[in-house]
Formats: sequence, structure tokens, C-alpha cells
Amino acid sequence: MIMERTFSIIKPDGVKRNIIGKILAKIEESGLRVVATKTMHMSRREAEQFYAVHSARPFFGELCEYMTSGPVVVSVLEGKNAVASYRELMGATDPSKASKGTIRAEFGLSIGENTMHGSDTLENAAIEVAYFFSGTELVNSAK
Ligand code: ATP
Ligand code: MG
Repeated sequence: MIMERTFSIIKPDGVKRNIIGKILAKIEESGLRVVATKTMHMSRREAEQFYAVHSARPFFGELCEYMTSGPVVVSVLEGKNAVASYRELMGATDPSKASKGTIRAEFGLSIGENTMHGSDTLENAAIEVAYFFSGTELVNSAK
């Protein structure tokens, strides 16, 4: 197994409901390490660029509206097979279809307001980390 870094967002519905700590605890309990984390409020431009792959989808406008509706918590997570293991911990996009014990099953409100984002590939993880964090914000993790 290879040590990887992935990128996570606690979306506005999670921040609004004051469950940042509960979610980060679940991430840590899964064995992943939080390398960097911060609260931010995405601009419309940032949301549109971040979700550009979905720009032709009917829900794109709604998605960008939602992602800019309040603050989010962006984090860099590190661990063995971090990309896949974090996707597994998050659960399916639609919380009603997410497996029991996953973050989206426990906290997700709807397919749109599904509490979390996690990178889908190692390549996208690197792009997303670099989009939201500068090199000086990324410390070496504890060994
Ligand atoms: P994310 O990229 O946020 O981690 P994902 O990879 O599970 O989620 P994607 O297919 O990439 O799912 O969709 C991106 C986001 O767009 C979803 O997390 C959700 O917030 C929103 N979304 C996806 N499908 C729909 C839909 N049918 N209706 C409304 N919103 C949707
Ligand atoms: Mg996705």
C-alpha cells in the first residue's frame, strides 16, 4: 500500500450544522491524518472552476450556488490508499444510497447537500490540493 494525499471539503451544510469536529473525528478514526485544514468561503469563480467537469450537467448552477452559500472546510488528508479509502468513508453521492457507517449516510441531507467532497483520483487530488493550499501550508506529517 502506498501513502497518498487526498483533498476533502466539508460542504456548507456540514459547517452550518456545526459538525466539523464530528466529521474530522471520523476521518481520524479511519486512520487518515489531517495534514492541513482551513475554513474558507468559496467565490462563484472558484466553485465553477472546481466543478468544471460538471459544467454541462443540469445541476451545475444549483451546485455552484450551494457551494458558495456559506463557508466550507477544506482539508488535505494523508494515509495509505487515501484517495480510495476516503471515498469509501464518505459513501455514495446520494446519502440515501450510501452504506451504513459512512459520513454521507450519517450526515448527508440530499444528493446535492451531501456534506462532503473527496477527490476521485490521485491526479485530481494533486490538482485540488494545489488549487486550495500553498506549499507552505502543507507540513510534513508526523512519522
Ligand atoms: P464530489 O465530487 O462532491 O466528491 P461525487 O464525486 O460523489 O461528489 P459527482 O458526480 O462528482 O459526485 O457530483 C459532484 C457533486 O454534485 C455531488 O457531490 C453533489 O453535491 C452534486 N450532484 C451530483 N449529482 C447531482 C444531482 N443529480 N442533483 C443535484 N446535485 C448533484
Ligand atoms: Mg466528484
